[in-house]
Amino acid sequence: MYIRTLMNRNDIKEIKELFSTPKNIVIVPHKNPDGDAIGACLAMYHYLNDKGHNAIVVAPNDYPDFLKWLPGSKDVYKFDMQNRQAKSALDKSSIVFLLDFNSLQRVGDDMMSTLEDFIGTFIMIDHHQQPDNVAKYLYSDISICSTCQMIYHFLEKLEDVKAITPEIATCLYTGIMTDTGSFRFPSTTSTTHKIIADLIDKGANNAKIHNNVYDTNSYGSLQLLGRALSNLIVVDKLKTAYITLTQSDLDEFNYQKGDTEGIVNYALSLEGIIFAVIFIEDVEQQIVKVSFRSKGSFSVNKFAREHFDGGGHDNAAGGKSKISLDATVSKFLHLLSSYKKELLNSYEE
Ligand code: 5GP
Ligand code: MN
Repeated sequence: MYIRTLMNRNDIKEIKELFSTPKNIVIVPHKNPDGDAIGACLAMYHYLNDKGHNAIVVAPNDYPDFLKWLPGSKDVYKFDMQNRQAKSALDKSSIVFLLDFNSLQRVGDDMMSTLEDFIGTFIMIDHHQQPDNVAKYLYSDISICSTCQMIYHFLEKLEDVKAITPEIATCLYTGIMTDTGSFRFPSTTSTTHKIIADLIDKGANNAKIHNNVYDTNSYGSLQLLGRALSNLIVVDKLKTAYITLTQSDLDEFNYQKGDTEGIVNYALSLEGIIFAVIFIEDVEQQIVKVSFRSKGSFSVNKFAREHFDGGGHDNAAGGKSKISLDATVSKFLHLLSSYKKELLNSYEE
């Protein structure tokens, strides 16, 4: 079925009408929200409250400490920990924003069933592939580097970029920075840089944001990185490198949420490597969380969807496995050889 992915003039007119009187609004990111998801939600949170609405961010669960300094972070409800307040906010709301995800499954089973019962208006803004048809208003563009950049474009469509405060600018800058790997991935365009320049003009303190996100490691998280790097295995012949972390590796270095974020990129930074993977054992959830990164035409979104119950973007995706860590790696290695041609042809210098 065809679904319209870009908001047209009539959609914008209707959304402006919706916003013309104060509303109760809930804003939702995906489970295990990252900088882009939380940045987009908090930017929208400030924008809507500044406009006189009563907006609340309800995240499915917690997010890393290196995002907790973001303005408004302390007001975020976590659906798993503050279930009563979160459900009550959803009950009262007539509009729910779904930001940085393409399918209700991405909020996790518990929250998904609550959202499925929601009878108001969904507005989805997202840059992942193949969005589900759940929202009355959908703004989906897989060519844009981040949902935060899309929020900026959404405000352009509402002719309200002037409403961007230093708080909103800070949230949007953070999401664009984290989802572009600090402005280095191919999805970073001149438009991205123009928006970033405008966000700095509007009060985003770029040096402070980089420091808050990247230079707040704990001793344990650096030691865990050391362990991950020493567990790195290179499959030269298939231009692939992968890392494993067992639950006991995590426990040994007092793992905190967010400590493994970005580690997979070290595997991708090896010269000649175009496919990088990290497998992280999670004994409590009885899964192995897998993150995939690639360079060039080898689609990790497709690989994750087909084999690891996941998805994402062409060059960055995630998934999970319900078998043991060793069995997951064996399955992966077995699959890998069948992708030889795609891997070797992915990235022409
Ligand atoms: P990460 O590997 O950093 O967790 O995620 C990389 C990208 O893949 C992100 O855009 C994220 O939203 C997406 N992603 C991560 N895990 C999953 C998953 O289990 N399912 C789907 N559909 N996407 C995922
Ligand atoms: Mn994103």
